[in-house]
Amino acid sequence: MAPLRHAISRVMRSLVMKFTLLSGLMLIGATALLMGIEFNLKRAENTETGLTRAELMTELFAANTAGSLAQSDVRALTRAVNDFQARPDVASVTAVDVNRRVLASWGEGVLNPGERETDQLVHAALGAVDTRIESLGPTIRVAEPAFDDGRLVGAVVVTVPMAAVAEPAMSILRRQLLTAFGALLIFLPIMAFAVRKALGPIGKLTEAARLASSRKLDLRIEVNTGDELEMLANAFNRMFARLDASMKRVHRLAYVDMVTELPNRERFRKEVERVSREAAESGHEGAILFLDLDRFKRVNDSLGIGEGDRLLEAVGRRLREAARGWDLSNGAEGAEPSMVARLGGDEFTVLMPKLRDGTDAARLARRIIDAVRRPFEISGHQVFLGISAGAAVFPRDGADPETLLRHADLAMAAAKRNGGNACEFFETSMNQSAFERLVLESELREAVREDQLVVYYQPKVGMHGGAIAGAEALVRWNHPTAGLLSPGAFIQAAEECGLIGEIGDWVLRRACRETAALAAQGLSVPVAVNVSAMQFESEGFAQSVLDVLEETGLPPEMLELELTESTAMRDPERVIAQIAPLRDIGVTFAIDDFGTGHSSLSYLTRMPFDVFKIDQSFVRDMSKDHHARIVVETILAMARSLKLKTVAEGVETAEQYVALRDLGATLAQGYLFGRPMPMDDLEEFARADAGAKVSAAAG
Ligand code: C2E
Ligand code: MG
Ligand code: MG
Repeated sequence: MAPLRHAISRVMRSLVMKFTLLSGLMLIGATALLMGIEFNLKRAENTETGLTRAELMTELFAANTAGSLAQSDVRALTRAVNDFQARPDVASVTAVDVNRRVLASWGEGVLNPGERETDQLVHAALGAVDTRIESLGPTIRVAEPAFDDGRLVGAVVVTVPMAAVAEPAMSILRRQLLTAFGALLIFLPIMAFAVRKALGPIGKLTEAARLASSRKLDLRIEVNTGDELEMLANAFNRMFARLDASMKRVHRLAYVDMVTELPNRERFRKEVERVSREAAESGHEGAILFLDLDRFKRVNDSLGIGEGDRLLEAVGRRLREAARGWDLSNGAEGAEPSMVARLGGDEFTVLMPKLRDGTDAARLARRIIDAVRRPFEISGHQVFLGISAGAAVFPRDGADPETLLRHADLAMAAAKRNGGNACEFFETSMNQSAFERLVLESELREAVREDQLVVYYQPKVGMHGGAIAGAEALVRWNHPTAGLLSPGAFIQAAEECGLIGEIGDWVLRRACRETAALAAQGLSVPVAVNVSAMQFESEGFAQSVLDVLEETGLPPEMLELELTESTAMRDPERVIAQIAPLRDIGVTFAIDDFGTGHSSLSYLTRMPFDVFKIDQSFVRDMSKDHHARIVVETILAMARSLKLKTVAEGVETAEQYVALRDLGATLAQGYLFGRPMPMDDLEEFARADAGAKVSAAAG
């Protein structure tokens, strides 16, 4: 019952019904108006006709009875009056003499013969000697004076029923009403049909608007009526097309990374959410890889923003290719493909929806690392990058995107700490070490504030005679509970939390001041200070060194700055520009840990360095590893031809010392001569006869 009522009420409220009813009403209204006009005209016409006929009839009667009236011939008059009884168009007749005395009469409500007619109409007709007519509703009364030989002899009064002289307007009206009703019966359905047909496109438009509101925008409405509805439909189509384009744009902005055209963080997050849920339900495993480019920031700084973006784009392409290659060679038929996304900066991610076994993620990571290590060609330059990967497996390492990303990120950081270009898997202990790192950072800030850092000095000695030739300043952290910490425990953390600049400045100032103080006592021991990449590349580095020299009064030629090979080779043009003002006044520069990086020979010969410090790993291995020995020999030969000094690091045995001396190294540094020590000890060391000690050790 209710559905029927509902349907009826919908039909009643529909536009078709409204239009049909409206047109029906208008039809009825128009017909009624026309009929009203017709009715009134007809009535007026009827009255006119009735009056004329009644007047004519009365005139005729007056003329016929004038003689009898003149003679007051009552019998003749009565006969004439009675003749009217047979006529249906006369209701009453009366004949009066000039004194208005009734002579003969017939009909309803008339006076008897002999009585005096008091009727105003008769009075007026006799008085004015003229016809008098009166129309009283359904009857007409006419009073006509009668003349005999031009003499007024009396008057006759005739009453005529209107209905008898003219067809009543009412019956016409009835007929017309019937016709109009018939017309309405025929035309209303036709009208409904026509309206329905004309409004058909509105149904289409309504349906299209409904679909559009449920986000289906790639639709077109076909309306070919040639009227406003077609215009409206076309306007709808244009609106849908524009909305569709805008929606796509919004979607792109929300879910696509503009630089690489890869899915962005938000899209990746959503995918991980879905895929990890499915994995948990069906009991299989998947993985996400967190990827971070090694050295991207520096490359980006030297390339400029536009080129940096192109490099990221190229990296994105390689990652996608690597993932696709992997999917093709390893994915099962119809399996969901891996998804590569960019989180921002130089961070990328890969989602592997389904793993066959635990090594899958490691193998894809390897493919990616190999792909990124191949040089990139950016505006004619070859650019070398590395990439570190961290893997988190779901559902084991987390069920939601945030946890998985955080864990994969921790694993990536571990891979990066171990030198980059590698993949690490997340382990629960990493959460712990991340926490430890956090504590370390806050403690380190405190250490800088509370003056817990100290500088130790390790002597460098000459290969011939073994006299002290300088010292390297090495920072230590006098931790309140953990004791003396070496830089390996905190330098990287300092770099990551941005404290390295402050620490580096402090070490430089302290080393210069103490060295100057030592020199003031007649002990001239040049000092070498380590400079981290971040510190070296910061704006105003050269100026800060100049300031320190001026402030401490240390002669510039007493200061050597050590840059690691990777710092020195990263952006040769910039390095040259940065060290030029310092070298001009006599500061010397050493490449630290030489042999571990990937220096380009052509750059090396152009770089304004004074010293190569051979990395201790080669010194350690040279006696047992043929390869290490060749590296040392090559470095020394190269230094000789470039006329550079060399320092062999990590010399622990006399055997190493002798071998290095024979190969032509200039200076040696290592436990064999002295461990890093406080300034007081260095002072003592400098005063003692180092030469004697060395020759004894060499035995
Ligand atoms: P480095 O510049 O290569 O310093 C030499 C490192 O080798 C020092 O470690 C030193 O104690 C160690 N060493 C010296 N002789 C021997 C030896 O005979 N055998 C062995 N096994 N090791 C030896 P340390 O002091 O732990 O410093 C480690 C690294 O930390 C340094 O390597 C340097 O790169 C960095 N570092 C130290 N101080 C600073 C600093 O003030 N600023 C910056 N940026 N880095 C610093
Ligand atoms: Mg050093
Ligand atoms: Mg070194």
